[in-house]
Amino acid sequence: MIHMLKNVFDRPQSFKKKCAVYPKDLDVSFEEAQNIILNSVSPLSAEDISIMEASRRVLYEDIVSDTMIPRVDDSAMDGYAIIAADTRGASRNNPAALRIVGEIQAGGSVIGKHVSRGTAIRIMTGAPIPEGADSVVRFEDTEEEAGYVKISSETAEFNNYRFAGENIKEGDKVLQKGDRLRSADIGILASLNYDAVKVYRQPTVSIISTGDELADIGEAIQAGQIRNVNVCTLYSEVKKYNGIPVYLGIAKDTLQDTREIFLKALKSDVVISTGGVSMGKYDFVKEIFSDLGIEMQFERVNVKPGSPCAFGKKDNKLIFGLPGNPVPTLTSFIQFVRPALLRLMGARRIEKPIVHAYLEEDIRSAGVHHLVRGYFTIKNNEFHVSTTGNQKPSILRSMSAANCLIILPEAVTGAMAGEKVAVQLIDHDEI
Ligand code: AMP
Ligand code: MG
Repeated sequence: MIHMLKNVFDRPQSFKKKCAVYPKDLDVSFEEAQNIILNSVSPLSAEDISIMEASRRVLYEDIVSDTMIPRVDDSAMDGYAIIAADTRGASRNNPAALRIVGEIQAGGSVIGKHVSRGTAIRIMTGAPIPEGADSVVRFEDTEEEAGYVKISSETAEFNNYRFAGENIKEGDKVLQKGDRLRSADIGILASLNYDAVKVYRQPTVSIISTGDELADIGEAIQAGQIRNVNVCTLYSEVKKYNGIPVYLGIAKDTLQDTREIFLKALKSDVVISTGGVSMGKYDFVKEIFSDLGIEMQFERVNVKPGSPCAFGKKDNKLIFGLPGNPVPTLTSFIQFVRPALLRLMGARRIEKPIVHAYLEEDIRSAGVHHLVRGYFTIKNNEFHVSTTGNQKPSILRSMSAANCLIILPEAVTGAMAGEKVAVQLIDHDEI
């Protein structure tokens, strides 16, 4: 979706001025917010790491093979290496009987081993095919007796045969700069003898919570206080995307405290604060942006939940002022911070899959990019989605129960049961 979006500056100012949902220049649509963020990202530098530590890291280089895998033709089965023509006309009543002239195990040598007409060599899975042989018959399809193997059906050429280079050829570009390494990719690197690989550096991500009402886990809690939930959910998300989270503590609701913590946070590549970004008397985050010379790019997004959401830049650092409520903290992370982290790390694929599913209940909406917590299932080969209940921004239970976000764009006033709606699969890898 993101690549199709128009730049914020494409929208005539007069449009924004006239439009009730964008009363100020720093109020933006959902698409504009995503676009502004992505346009602000410059990818980080590279580092070399062991492939054993490279899971989910993003490649900084193309990987081109300098060899063939397999290196030689080898056997896909335990059995006998034979010449297929020797089984011509073989049947249960008239089996081909081939004299066994040797054995090759996986890792074994083929030197001096040769299959000629009327002979066979016992061979194990992964062992090189000996000279002369052009096929392998599985043990299960044979009988061995007195130094001979009996084969009671015809065997085609290249049966159970793995060709040199059929997995990877010399010169193949097997992985690409910007790929996020998964286990199979790491296996490819191992097969090509890479012990280390060049990847994008991980961004350091400072996490700040704001609010006098917050108590960290294990701290004594007073009436009227709540647990600092957001730092934990954000920590988890940052780790999931391979950022390095740095928790800087709770900023009290004073200008001075908030400023001090933000100053420390600006040592990181990315800063995420939660709370203190709306219109309350003690919401200082926006003031801190201008105080610390952070160039504010937007301060309100036409999205529900989570419209109080600020984003700014200072040098190459990205600063996010996310909403305080636990659900929009997470949904805003998924929509805004996650793609930024992935782009910082050079990832090519940054979009969560969006599919269309039959909605199982009515949902009302109104002129806002509405993200509704939902549960996506497949019934009779069709995609279905229902909501996970109470959609207040403070109800984390319905986010915990969700595996997707139902997207109702700004232009619609709702969706009815039975309609097909767009659904973003939040637990799936980026595609
Ligand atoms: P604020 O924008 O600071 O007014 O916060 C909005 C709501 O989110 C308030 O109910 C806060 O108590 C709540 N909130 C803010 N920060 C956190 C946090 N770190 N963990 C859980 N709830 C929070
Ligand atoms: Mg607050």
